[in-house]
Amino acid sequence: MNNIFGYTKEMLEEYFFNINQKKFKAIQIYDWLYKKNIYDFKLFSNIKKEVIDNLINDFSVDFIKIEKVLEGKDVKKFLFRLLDGEKIEAVLMKHNYGLSVCVSSQVGCNMGCRFCESGRLKKVRNLETYEIVEQILLIQKYINRRIDSVVLMGIGEPFDNYDNIIKFIKIINDAHGLAIGSRHITVSTCGLVPKIYEFSNLDLQVNLAISLHGATDEVRNKIMPVNKVYSISQLLTAIKDYIAKTNRRVTIEYVMLNMVNDKESDAYSLADILKGLNVYVNLIPYNETKNIEFSKSSKERITNFYNILVSKKINVTIRREFGGNIKAACGQLRSESD
Ligand code: SF4
Repeated sequence: MNNIFGYTKEMLEEYFFNINQKKFKAIQIYDWLYKKNIYDFKLFSNIKKEVIDNLINDFSVDFIKIEKVLEGKDVKKFLFRLLDGEKIEAVLMKHNYGLSVCVSSQVGCNMGCRFCESGRLKKVRNLETYEIVEQILLIQKYINRRIDSVVLMGIGEPFDNYDNIIKFIKIINDAHGLAIGSRHITVSTCGLVPKIYEFSNLDLQVNLAISLHGATDEVRNKIMPVNKVYSISQLLTAIKDYIAKTNRRVTIEYVMLNMVNDKESDAYSLADILKGLNVYVNLIPYNETKNIEFSKSSKERITNFYNILVSKKINVTIRREFGGNIKAACGQLRSESD
């Protein structure tokens, strides 16, 4: 049986059309689920009994479960257990501009980025759309507050689960759904080039972030196997196409790895390849984990790198560090209840 939280409003309209009901019922259902937070079909008081019976027969409202919550300063990490027993994580962060949630899109990840704890666990399966939506619903319920922004940057490569993350974005962005504005939704990819082209044609107006982490093929090949399939020049061409089609600024994520990608020459190469592009570079202090050999760049090296980019007129910030102490930081998500 299909979980109702995996259905975009358009899919529900089609469902009602197919059972000879008016399409606007989809809006009424969305209203109950996402505005009134009522999940028992029998309580949908403005819906006819015969339609309720259809819903009961055709849809489930099963929820994944919060298994554990770890708390740090301005951050909470949620460990979820899925209905088949698999585990994933999401992270809630408090910024000065509001609450954001970083959701997972897969159980494990096949991209194998060498610095990433999440990627050490091979992909077990894609998350279903409802499993991504419910991460948000359950966190909102837990904190009894609305989420302001969402990033698809947890466990998994979102573009490796393309169809489901597009449905997820449509559901949370829908004015009758969770109504999270498109400018407050960010999808991050390690560089699956064909999907970047596909994504740019959708005109969803959400933010795109590219995990670049290296400015030359030599460096990137060492830390991100995906680069052997889609080189930096192919990736840059896709980014340029995306910017031209959407007129949107792209975020470039760059994790600072000591003596790996943080040399002055790396900063100059990065400035060079990004010159003239409508991008914004986010330098991420690396979060060391015991299982991985990389170490974090010193403050001096990060500042020096930053200054070189500024001198080359590249928009750049250094990301605030979150949750290192509860293993909730980027590249540290791992679905284990340690
Ligand atoms: S950084 Fe992202 S894409 Fe790379 S292995 Fe980790 S979860 Fe996968």
